[in-house]
Amino acid sequence: MKLLDGRSMAAEIGRGVVESTERLRQNGIVPTLAVVLPTTDAAARSYVGVIERGAAKVGVRCVVHERSGDPAELLDTVDQLAANDGVHGLIVQTPLPSGLSASEIGTRIPPHKDVDGMNPLSLGRLALGLPCFAPATAAAVLEILHRGDIKLAGTRVAVIGRSPVVGKPASLLLVAEDATVTVCHSRTTDLISIVHEADVVVAAVGRPKMINKGFIRPGATVIDVGTNVTESGLVGDVDADAVASVAGALTPVPGGVGPVTTMLLLRNTTSAATL
Ligand code: NAP
Repeated sequence: MKLLDGRSMAAEIGRGVVESTERLRQNGIVPTLAVVLPTTDAAARSYVGVIERGAAKVGVRCVVHERSGDPAELLDTVDQLAANDGVHGLIVQTPLPSGLSASEIGTRIPPHKDVDGMNPLSLGRLALGLPCFAPATAAAVLEILHRGDIKLAGTRVAVIGRSPVVGKPASLLLVAEDATVTVCHSRTTDLISIVHEADVVVAAVGRPKMINKGFIRPGATVIDVGTNVTESGLVGDVDADAVASVAGALTPVPGGVGPVTTMLLLRNTTSAATL
């Protein structure tokens, strides 16, 4: 079984990001990512800390804007950052205050700063194959498959989950790679048989260790997007210990999709700074 090591992939991508940030700085541009944090949620804060540390390593300036859960204040902050020429990338960390939807906020993020693909326009452009920033987690799934030399054209892929941040955009990116994609969700009947047919399985469900050995066809590649905080620590949506004995390749949790996602956000920020 091949371990698809997200940490080493992120380090490799990071070397390219460092080159980009150095070039930008030589031209007087400091690539800057603004992160709006409208919550006291511990997991969200911890993730923002991960982004800050990653940014510091690759030379991206990361500015965190902590806000209360007041919707008007949050929208005002997003509008100001959207209009600020010194901000190249702009993300709003979830969970969002009640009463505000992700698409409502995303609409206020200009597509050229939308480094986590939150604007509905970005998803529309993705669907049409037009240049855009895809949600970083979905892009990370593809990045890992490419870097792991996993064949996609003509293969069968099962994506479990259809959220706008992971399942849906990952499915669009996989179709663009000529894979035949089945998108599964909570109303899918006979999930296990559908997933068992797949050459590549992308699990983005949010249910700890739900995908067990019985779901996986021998030799299949398994990308575990899940990040579930449990009493025994951070676990994926895949029962990795059991699945490892049957899968051909597997991403670990932690150390798989997460580090690549963070690095792609930073890479997108340097791309946004060159636009
Ligand atoms: P989400 O918005 O809650 O979506 C979960 C999806 O799973 C939904 O489409 C849901 O179906 C489907 N689902 C739920 N129970 C199911 C079941 N029993 N059988 C089949 N499908 C089922 O979650 P998300 O934001 O996409 O995140 C998914 C996972 O990825 C979470 O663990 C999250 O923490 C993780 N994540 C990781 C990263 C990273 O960087 N590593 C980033 C984002 C998210 P319905 O649509 O029918 O409800």
